[in-house]
Amino acid sequence: MTVDRSELVSRVRAMAPVLTERAVRYDREASFPFENFADFRRLGLLAMCVPERYGGFGASYADYVRVSEEVGRYCGATALTFNMHNATMLWCGEVADALTMSTGERQTHEHIRAEMFRGVVEDGCIHSQPFSEGLAPGATAGVATRARPVDGGWRVTGRKIFASLSGAANFYNVICQQPGDDTIRFLGVPADAEGVSCVDDWDPLGMRGTVSRTLLMDDAFVPSSNEWLPAGVYNQAAERYPWLFLSLCPSYLGLTGGVLDVTRAYLRGELPGQAAGARRDHPMKQIGWGQMQLRHQQARALLYRAIDEATLDPSESDLVLGWSAAYTVMEHAAEVASTAIRVCGGQAMLKHLPLERMYRDARLGSLMLPWSAEVCMERLSKARLYD
Ligand SMILES: Cc1cc2nc3c(=O)[nH]c(=O)nc-3n(C[C@H](O)[C@H](O)[C@H](O)COP(=O)(O)OP(=O)(O)OC[C@H]3O[C@@H](n4cnc5c(N)ncnc54)[C@H](O)[C@@H]3O)c2cc1C
Repeated sequence: MTVDRSELVSRVRAMAPVLTERAVRYDREASFPFENFADFRRLGLLAMCVPERYGGFGASYADYVRVSEEVGRYCGATALTFNMHNATMLWCGEVADALTMSTGERQTHEHIRAEMFRGVVEDGCIHSQPFSEGLAPGATAGVATRARPVDGGWRVTGRKIFASLSGAANFYNVICQQPGDDTIRFLGVPADAEGVSCVDDWDPLGMRGTVSRTLLMDDAFVPSSNEWLPAGVYNQAAERYPWLFLSLCPSYLGLTGGVLDVTRAYLRGELPGQAAGARRDHPMKQIGWGQMQLRHQQARALLYRAIDEATLDPSESDLVLGWSAAYTVMEHAAEVASTAIRVCGGQAMLKHLPLERMYRDARLGSLMLPWSAEVCMERLSKARLYD
C-alpha cells in the first residue's frame, strides 16, 4: 500500500479542527456534511478502500475501521455516512475477491467494478446503501423492492427507509429482487434517474447530518452495468462474510472516544467555552471517568479483535465474537455518553458544548440493523446451545 494505515488516520486527524467545528452546524441544520466529503475527496479518502490496481489506496477493512473511528471522534454523522460509501467499496472490492464466482461472473464483475471504482477515483462519486425497508432485520430476507428486467437493465420500484446520504449520494445502492426470484440483487440506482425521489421530513433526535430520509423508486431505470455484484453474490457475502455488518461500529466507537476527549478536557478545565475551572479532584467524577475509560477500552478491544480475526465462513462460535463486539460498541457508546453527562454536570446539557449532541448521536447506535443490539443479544442468548 503506497499510503499506509497510519497516514490515512493522520489525514483525518489533521482535519480534526474543521470536522469538530462543522459538526455543530450539520447537527443544528440537520444538513449533510458536503464540505467534509469535499475534503475527503481531495485527500483521496473516498477511494481509500478502492483496490490499488483501480487507482485507490487499497485500504483493508481493518484499516478502514481505524480511519472511520478517527472520523467518528470528531463527527459521528460524518463517520456514519462515510461508512455507507466505504461499505459498498469493501463489498465490491476486498470481500468480492474472497467470494466464489464463476469465470463468467468474475469477468463481468471486474468489468463493472472497474467503471464503478473509476467513478469514485476520478469523478469523486459518492455511494450510499439504503437497504432498510422496515420489513425484517435479516440482510438477505424480506426485501420488497422489485427489479423488473427490461432491455439494457431493470426498472426498480420500492421504498427504503432511513436512506442516509439522501440528496447527497450519486448512487443509492439497494438490495432488491426480480419478481418470482428469491435471489437478492445489489443494484446502484442513479440518484438522478427519473422516478427517484427523497421524501419525508428529517428532524431527528441525533445523527442529524446523515440526512436519512425515505427513498422512493418508481419504475426507475437502472442499467445492467450498475449491478455491483453478480446475482446471488450479495447473499453469499452476507452469509460467508457477515463481518461487514460491523462496519457501522467504528463510527460509534470513535464517537465514544470523542466523548472521552470532551470529558477529559472538561475535567482538566481545558474545554473551550467551559464556565468553571478544572474538576478532576472530585472523587465521584474520577469514578465516572474511570468507568468511561473502561467501557471505551472494552469496546475497542472487542471490535479490533473481531475485525482483525475475521475470516470467511465463520462458525457460530466465531460469530459470538462479532455479535458481542457489535453489542458492546453500540451499548457502550450510549452508556459512556450518559455517564459523561453526569460527570460533566449541568454544563453538559448546554448546546454550545459538544456533549449534548454526542449524547443524542450515541443513543442511536444500538438501533442499527442488521446487527442491532437486540438482534445480537437474541443470537447470543441462543448461540452454542442448540448446535
Ligand atoms: C441515523 C440512522 C441512519 C441510518 N442509515 C441507514 C442507511 O443508510 N441504510 C440502511 O439500510 N439503514 C439505515 N438505518 C436504519 C437502521 O439500520 C434500522 O433499519 C432502523 O433504525 C430500524 O428502524 P425500524 O423502525 O424499522 O425498527 P424495527 O425494525 O421496528 O426495530 C425496532 C427495534 O426492534 C429490534 N428488532 C427488530 N427486529 C428484531 C428481531 N428480529 N429480533 C430482535 N430484535 C429486533 C431492533 O433492533 C430495534 O431495536 C439508519 C438508522 C439510523 C438511526
